[in-house]
Amino acid sequence: MTQNSMHRFFFLLGKPASGKGTQIRRILDTFEGRSFSTGDALKYHIARRTELGTQVKALIDAGKLVSDDIVMALFRDSAEHLGDTTGTTLFLVDGFPRTVGQYEMVKRYLAEKAITHSFLYFSVADDHILRRFTGRLTCNTCFTPFSTLAGDVVENDPCPQCKKGKLIRRSDDNETVVRNRLAEYRAATAPMVEHIAAHEKGNFVEIEASRAEDDIFNDVKELLISAKISLKKP
Ligand SMILES: [Zn+2]
Repeated sequence: MTQNSMHRFFFLLGKPASGKGTQIRRILDTFEGRSFSTGDALKYHIARRTELGTQVKALIDAGKLVSDDIVMALFRDSAEHLGDTTGTTLFLVDGFPRTVGQYEMVKRYLAEKAITHSFLYFSVADDHILRRFTGRLTCNTCFTPFSTLAGDVVENDPCPQCKKGKLIRRSDDNETVVRNRLAEYRAATAPMVEHIAAHEKGNFVEIEASRAEDDIFNDVKELLISAKISLKKP
């Protein structure tokens, strides 16, 4: 990294389907930066048969859970391969840390590397998530998500994005799965969010995320502009 360049880490926290994914896409269309999610990192390492990927694959094949140490190693690997930048660019971290234990590991890492960071918490009520989830369609070709809530798309419509695929309801979009994921969130992640809110006062921003996508993005954009994040070059 050169002296006048810097990566600013933003950790996006929130329930499943609180709209983080959509905002990340919009942020990266506007600002310079990269994103990390545990799922993408797992896929990347398994596909490239890296040392971490081989370890992870062995665990998954044995029906074991991926430990916090491994998730942390994936995060660290990604954070350390950001490369040079001009100005201040983003490193958006999606859905990690998920537990107080993971947060403690991340906190040590950030302190050790003296990384400037913020936590953005997307706050949404459960019933709003349930409505959003059951109204969610995904293109079977380009995987762009769409919502039936605005009334402009219905199931089996051709994809407005790639014009090739069809909009389908993914099997994990059913209510039982969503309720289970929300219960998991309540048990493990909600206490972490409270912990971070109390311990990272200057670095914690809550965003009311049950509003329209554009309104949420306007707030996020303002925040990133005031943090002097470089705009994407045209
Ligand atoms: Zn499509």
